[in-house]
Amino acid sequence: MEDLRSLTREERKQLLREMGQPAYREKQIFKWICRGASSIDEMTDLPASLRESLKERSSFEGPEIAAVQTSSDGTRKYLLRFSDGNCVEAVFMRYDYGNSLCISTQVGCAMGCRFCASTIGGKVRDLKAWEMLSEYTSVCRDTGLPINHVVLMGIGEPFDNYKEVCRFLSDIHDPDGIGLSLRNITVSTCGIVPKIEAFGRDFPQVNLAISLHASDQQEREALMPIAKAYDIDALLAACRAHGEATGRRVTFEYTLIEGKNDSEKSARALASLLKGMLCHVNLIPLNPVAETGLKSSGRERAEEFRSYLEAHGVPATIRRRLGADIDAACGQLRKNTSTEVKR
Ligand code: SAH
Repeated sequence: MEDLRSLTREERKQLLREMGQPAYREKQIFKWICRGASSIDEMTDLPASLRESLKERSSFEGPEIAAVQTSSDGTRKYLLRFSDGNCVEAVFMRYDYGNSLCISTQVGCAMGCRFCASTIGGKVRDLKAWEMLSEYTSVCRDTGLPINHVVLMGIGEPFDNYKEVCRFLSDIHDPDGIGLSLRNITVSTCGIVPKIEAFGRDFPQVNLAISLHASDQQEREALMPIAKAYDIDALLAACRAHGEATGRRVTFEYTLIEGKNDSEKSARALASLLKGMLCHVNLIPLNPVAETGLKSSGRERAEEFRSYLEAHGVPATIRRRLGADIDAACGQLRKNTSTEVKR
């Protein structure tokens, strides 16, 4: 049986029409979904008989919170398990400007970036739009706190699951439910160029982050297999076009890896690559993943790299490390957690 949440709002309206129900019932159900209801029975403003017939036609299961790690800085890392047993991570972070949630878009990842834990073991499956929404509602319910920023930077490549990601963005923005502003959402991609172009047309208000991690084609190919399909020049051209079309600043994520991409030569190449572009570089100290054998650049190197970029007209910051004591880079909780873990 299909989950009631997997239907689009239009499809749910159609289903209810067939069941002889008035149109406003769908809105009631959508509100419950956005509040994170855990069952159809919880939807107490629906007549009992309607709840029974919905239960005969559709399922409504999961996700359950399989594990939570809490950091002293308030960061909470959730392992969520869907009814088919697959797990993803969602990370709740507190900032001065509000609370933010990092959402996963796939179970595993097919992109194969050398430094990343999420891709070890490959991609298992795409997440559905409703499953991404349920990451948001599960964490809102558990913390009891509002979440006003969402970043699609968890497990998975959003643009390798483009249709469901777009549906999720429309659903979380829908004023009948959560009504999150699109300007408070950031989507991060490893660089699937045709989807960057499509995304600028489909969601020009959403912030775009690009996982660049290298200053030239050769360096990038060594770290990110996707660079072989879409080279760095095509990627940068798409980012420039995106900036011009949307008037919005693109963020480049650059993980500093000792001896791989952190030399002065790399800083110089990066500065000339991004010169004159409406952008911002987010330098990220590498979270070490044992299997990769890669190490993070030291604090001093990171600071030098940042100053070089700034001195050459490229705005750059070093990302503050939240949740350092619960650590685990993106994907590590899922990888390290056996299915028995409960909180
Ligand atoms: N697939 C998307 C989004 C998920 S990864 C993308 O590639 O952008 C979110 C960010 O974390 C990306 O910039 C990714 O490159 C980075 N990342 C992955 N593993 C990391 C690690 N071990 N240390 C630091 N950053 C990492």
